[in-house]
Amino acid sequence: MLAPVTDTDGAPFWRYAAQGELRIQACADCGELRFPPRPCCPHCQSFTSEWRQVSGHGRIWSYVVPHPPLLPDYAAQAPYNVIVVELADAPRIRLVGNLVTEAGAPLNSLFPDRVRIGARVQVVFTDTGLPQWILERP
Ligand code: ZN
Repeated sequence: MLAPVTDTDGAPFWRYAAQGELRIQACADCGELRFPPRPCCPHCQSFTSEWRQVSGHGRIWSYVVPHPPLLPDYAAQAPYNVIVVELADAPRIRLVGNLVTEAGAPLNSLFPDRVRIGARVQVVFTDTGLPQWILERP
């Protein structure tokens, strides 16, 4: 079973994801978004932050198709894709995930040759609150 590993800084990300919301940590003083979550703003060194909801639209910025050797849970699903998504609302924020056919679909539900850099994608969430990505125009 593939499940998120949470830490103190990242826990809110997963709590919101479990509610079907994609939220990115933002500095409560200067407003800069940052990812991955961390305690201190790299722009103004403030320790106050908030979680801002984003549209969940983005573009594929890069991708890989992992090959063995892989961890056992992943090896069973290879070949699959791992994409880096540049968020439409925050182009400097890039999230790593998988492009699938629909919410909750397995990692290998979309053939790797369907993945194109620049393709528009939309976030979806599994029943367990894991963000995944689908093509806006399949
Ligand atoms: Zn700041």
